Parts: sequence; structure tokens; C-alpha cells
Amino acid sequence: MSNGVVRRGAIVAVIVLLLSGAFSYIRLPHAQVITAPTAAHAAQMDLRDHPRRGPGPAVSGSTTIPRVVLGAATNSKVVALTFDLDMDAEMAAAARGGAVWINRDALTFLESRKLHATLFMTGMWAEVYPALAREIVNNPNFEIGDHSYSHPAFHTPCYLLGGVSRAEQARQIQLAQKAIERSTGVLPKYFRFPGGCYDRPALDLVHAAGLIPVQWNVNSIDAFNSYPQQIVSTVLSEVKPGSIVVMHLNGGSNAPSTGLALRLLIPELEKRGYQFLTVSELLAAGTSIQPIDPREVSEFYQPPPPPALPVKSTPRWCGWVIGLHGRVWVCR
Ligand SMILES: [Zn+2]
Repeated sequence: MSNGVVRRGAIVAVIVLLLSGAFSYIRLPHAQVITAPTAAHAAQMDLRDHPRRGPGPAVSGSTTIPRVVLGAATNSKVVALTFDLDMDAEMAAAARGGAVWINRDALTFLESRKLHATLFMTGMWAEVYPALAREIVNNPNFEIGDHSYSHPAFHTPCYLLGGVSRAEQARQIQLAQKAIERSTGVLPKYFRFPGGCYDRPALDLVHAAGLIPVQWNVNSIDAFNSYPQQIVSTVLSEVKPGSIVVMHLNGGSNAPSTGLALRLLIPELEKRGYQFLTVSELLAAGTSIQPIDPREVSEFYQPPPPPALPVKSTPRWCGWVIGLHGRVWVCR
């Protein structure tokens, strides 16, 4: 099995777990594993702590740079729909072989309804689909964010996503920025962690790059979900004024019903009085909602490996077997 297959499998596993709802912050008591940092770890984190940046990227209506954004505190019926565009080396190779990692149906619906939305692109996705990336950027209703270059974990455990060094994390942020800028001419100011996993040094890296980490507080659970009504019910039961909703635009079997779900969800949200904003517009409407963990660690349950098969200590059968080179004594 190639590394690419492992990486692609990891992304699929993350999406499957997203489908299970394990990502939802609302359900975190069942899914989130937060380990207390040891003294050595804490010292290490202090050593690695980057000096806080000065002003950083400007966010209209906000005087402080949010550490992590989960949503906005507001009484106005506004919501930010956000869509992730994952890509790793194996997916890129599959794309060269004809696979299409975009849910055209969902994208067309967003475009046709002139809905405001924020799309988090991996750098690799922007490289594989430069024309689509430009189409997205040229839509005045869309805003884009950085979703790393090739979707590794920035803190482990993170489902089955492999972790990378701090240096590689910093490189992933920069590579994605450059790739997205090369394809679209636009430099994102927001960053979303692959798998939603991060810690303090990872947050510092994002801030040092001049970006604001943006997560979510409503998981639509649209990945690998063939039931649009289920996606709609999930969002409608959790959405509040100022929510950020995570969805996927990767297409194929990864998000097969997102387009259908949007066709049901948008009219219902409109009926309830909601307006759709980009993340920037949402942050202008209210102060950002922060995670409650003061240690700034977010990691997710890693399924334990399956129990090892019992080791055969003694052969179950021995006897003479006629082979190509005559009779041999074999134990099995
Ligand atoms: Zn992702």
C-alpha cells in the first residue's frame, strides 16, 4: 500500500468520522480527548511559543484578532456556510486519471442562488483545479480560506491523519498560500485545520503566518451521506444566530448529497429569517466565539487497533507432502 493510499484512506476515514458526528463540538463530550500537558510538554510549548503578532489581518468591526473562530456572538439571524476542498497526493493522482473532486451540483446551486459562502481550499486542490479555483475567487459572493497544502494533521491523534513536524506545518501553511495565490491571484486570510485538530503551537504558527484559524460550531455531517434530509435536519437542529456550518464540496462519493441538501436547507433557513454571510461578514456582525479549552488543544478519538490474532505456538498438522522436488515433511 503506497503512502498516497494511506493518506487518501486517512482523509476518507476523517470524512467517515465527520459523518458519524464525532466532529461536532456539540457532541465533543463523547468524542473529544483532551490530555493534560505534562510539565515537559508545557515547557516545550513555551519554548516554541511564537511572539504574538501585532495587528495581523484586519477584520472589519473587530479590534482584536480572534485566537480561533467557531462562530460569532450575535442576536442577528446570520449564518456562515463554509465548504472544505480537501486534496492529497493520492487524490491529485486520481484526478489526473479522471477523478473529479468537486461537487459541481452544490457549487452551481451556491452560484445560482448568489449565496455568500467561504470555501477552504487545500493548496493542492488549487493546483489541480486552477480554472475552478479562479471561478470561485471571481464570484464576488465567495471568500476563500487556506486548508493546508496536502491535508496533514496539525496535532495528533487526529483520526487516521498522519501528523507532521512543526516545520512541515509552517511549510504546509505557506505552500498552500503560494499555490492558492498562484492559481487565483488571491491570498487567503483564514486557515482551517485539517481534521479540525490543533494545539497551541499550531495556532501560533497560523497566527505567525498572519492568518486566523476558523473552525465551526455546526457540523452538517454531509460527508459520505446519501440522505439530504438528514443533513438538513442536523443543521436545522443546531444552527443559531452567528453559527459557522461546515460542509464539503469535494464531490464524488465524499459529499454526494450536499447539492440536494442545500436545495432543501437554504429555503428553510430563509423561511426562519436567516441571511448567509462569508466568515468576514460574520465577524463584522459579532465578536468571535472561542473554544472553551484554555489549553487550546483540540484532538479527536483515535480508534484502538484491532486485537492481534493469536500467535500460532504449535503446528496444527504435520505430514509428508509431495512437492515439485519430491516428498517433504511439512508442519502447518
Ligand atoms: Zn479537510
